[in-house]
Amino acid sequence: MVPGDFDLNSVIERFQSYAPGADTALLTKAYRFSCEGHSAQKRASNEPYFIHCLAVTNVLMDWRLDSATICAGLLHDIMEDTKVTYDDLKADFSEEIANLVAGVTKIERLQFTNLTEFQAENWRKMMLATAKDIRVILIKLADRLHNIRTIHYLPAEDQLRIAQETLTLYAPIADRLGIFATKSELEDLSFAIIEPHIFGEISQSLDKQTEGRDEYLKRFGEHVTERLKKLNVSFRCMSRPKHVYSIYRKMLRQNKNLNEIEDTMGIRLITDTIANCYSILGEMHAAWKPVPNSFTDYIAQPKSNMYQSIHTTVWGPGDTIVEIQIRTEEMHRRAEYGIAAHWKYKLKSHGNVRDKDLEMDLNWLREWLEAAQDLENPAELLETLKTELKVHQIFVFTPRMEVKPLPEGASPVDFAYAVHTDIGNQCMGAKINGKIAKLDSELKNGDICEILVRKNARPNEDWLKFVKTSKARSRIRRFLKDLKSGDKKP
Ligand code: MN
Repeated sequence: MVPGDFDLNSVIERFQSYAPGADTALLTKAYRFSCEGHSAQKRASNEPYFIHCLAVTNVLMDWRLDSATICAGLLHDIMEDTKVTYDDLKADFSEEIANLVAGVTKIERLQFTNLTEFQAENWRKMMLATAKDIRVILIKLADRLHNIRTIHYLPAEDQLRIAQETLTLYAPIADRLGIFATKSELEDLSFAIIEPHIFGEISQSLDKQTEGRDEYLKRFGEHVTERLKKLNVSFRCMSRPKHVYSIYRKMLRQNKNLNEIEDTMGIRLITDTIANCYSILGEMHAAWKPVPNSFTDYIAQPKSNMYQSIHTTVWGPGDTIVEIQIRTEEMHRRAEYGIAAHWKYKLKSHGNVRDKDLEMDLNWLREWLEAAQDLENPAELLETLKTELKVHQIFVFTPRMEVKPLPEGASPVDFAYAVHTDIGNQCMGAKINGKIAKLDSELKNGDICEILVRKNARPNEDWLKFVKTSKARSRIRRFLKDLKSGDKKP
């Protein structure tokens, strides 16, 4: 039996709560299809496997995603775990849903083996490139979130591997997509497994501080409410959660131990309009002296992940330092749910909701995300948006599963030089995905390429006609030039 929270009616009700009038026939079908398909399977917790599909779907509904994504959430493991194929899903549901499930399955099969930061960065890029549709990434994040929430049922070595992968690969993606609530949860749950002692120490000390801090913030909130009365603006006041991993990062960054980390109090004021954000800011600065250089206006200058808020720090009552964040409800939703908050349902005049009315062009968004990863400041981002940067990159693996980024249309020769100059110079053949391939073949995203070398092999002048990377081109030219001048023996 499926627990109450997760029965079909609850799923439909939850979906309709943010998509009123939406057609739920497909949702019902996906629910039953997944329940039946996974019926023989159990999780490590000994619960029915379907519970996992529902939990993932529930996270996707927290993010208020569209019906195709919700259906794909229910079906996300069906291709991996049962005999159901892409064509089955396309026929029974839709091409869109089949593509989403196939995308998740494809990412499932990418094995993350190398934890160096450089490789991790390439992996994250490749994941974004492989997904083709940002909704695939969102399903994958929801999947990982539920898996790490229930990880204690797995053997210790699996826990460690999954936690490391989550911290290095998935949490930064959640961060980039601006889904901070998920990012922090992924980080803290992973960190608790990787460094249990440090995690315990920090969270104990947080617990100890909580009592006094909560009391202070409650009183501070009352002062704020009193001050804002005369402005006649609607707002709500909430305290900010503290995350263990972010405190640990702060300790590393500032090279301090736990006692030396300043535990600043923080509140968040959420209001309805941008104008009100600035009126509230003015009132706060009038009431309490601001700490110099602490003010940052992310409303006027949004962060590259679209985060917006006003941050300031004041000396509150009793000369205690308090951080204040001011934002609108919409900014708050975006800060919690990031990219996911951008799916909006437009109500038709007759009150029906159609998935086609998604406000966001998904492909545009994906390209933007790929480009945004390499940018440090938001001003650059605006430039990117204007010029519609097109970076066409593919990711090719070595047989040891190290990933090399290459331009679209790159050949095994480009790949050989990307691995090492000597490999390029001694290259005499290649295998792509285990099959012998010509050296001028076009590599595709996700290919595994093996370079066949011979000690006395040498670059061929014809290679210059098809190589795409400047590295390959310059190394081939240099070798041929040295050859002519007699530095190298053929
Ligand atoms: Mn799953």
